[in-house]
Amino acid sequence: MSWVIAGTWRMALEGVSKGAHMLATGASAGDAVTEAVRAVEDYPLYKSVGLGGLPNGACQVELDGAFMDGDTLDFGAVAAVKDVKNPVSLARRLSTERFNCFLVGAGAEDFARVELFEMCNMLTERAKRAFEIRSRKVRESNLSPYDGHDTVGVVALDSSGSMACATSTSGLFMKRPGRVGDSPLCGSGLYADSRFGAAVATGLGEEIMKGVLSYETVRSMGEGLDPDSASRRSLKSFIDRRIQAGRRVGAISILCCSRDGRVGVATNVEFSFVIARRDSPAKVYLVSPDGDGVKIQEAPVEWLEAYERRIKLPPEEVF
Ligand code: ASP
Repeated sequence: MSWVIAGTWRMALEGVSKGAHMLATGASAGDAVTEAVRAVEDYPLYKSVGLGGLPNGACQVELDGAFMDGDTLDFGAVAAVKDVKNPVSLARRLSTERFNCFLVGAGAEDFARVELFEMCNMLTERAKRAFEIRSRKVRESNLSPYDGHDTVGVVALDSSGSMACATSTSGLFMKRPGRVGDSPLCGSGLYADSRFGAAVATGLGEEIMKGVLSYETVRSMGEGLDPDSASRRSLKSFIDRRIQAGRRVGAISILCCSRDGRVGVATNVEFSFVIARRDSPAKVYLVSPDGDGVKIQEAPVEWLEAYERRIKLPPEEVF
């Protein structure tokens, strides 16, 4: 059977490439998504995940992460954890527990220490500087403190037909301490069932969790919808429902993969994702909303180069 791995945003590129190499040499979907997400967590210039993640309103890096095994539906998650180097690995470890599979805050950190997970200060000098700059702008120019967030979410199908997915994020920039988004919530930020498919979401967690959008997308694939139609129907019916209730909807993107290896995407904002398959190395795609569907193009070289330059700019020019 042919394998596939896909991840949200350009930041997933190196991780997805690593996961693809693993899948090509017979690794499981669970191992591939975990390693793909770890690669993003470890790179300090990816500012919304893991080391160097965006601080909360008290200038602390609080991280959320989750893992789901599509064969067994085993699920593990951590939320609002500090000082844990790889939240996704902790989440995966928790997915093997019958009880206590979702830990938050100090409880999750204690468990990580007992289990000898690597601990480190996740607040980099760069992230601290970003916090100072943004705090000043919020005070002086009424800017929203919450702008700036992204989650790495990865889905994979391995050559034996197993599926898995994982997420990791620092959540909203300057969020209230203790705030948890959709990313570690089973069904909202991620869901996998190897009988149907896997899905991950990114965007405003307070919205995504109300529509349980990853579960909804996998359920629709289970009803026979192709991945594009499944993710777009989930997104559209949620947006329609919220608008009908007189509410505003924030940014939402969904990335999913069906059990036969087709990848689908739905979004209401500019979005990028990465995909690799047996017959095609990892490539970045740019997506923009277009009516009820999306426009997709492979990222041009100029875009990729501009991205590389942008993430290395001094914080003064970024935040
Ligand atoms: N969904 C994440 C959260 O709300 C952030 C993001 O994916 O942009 O925490």
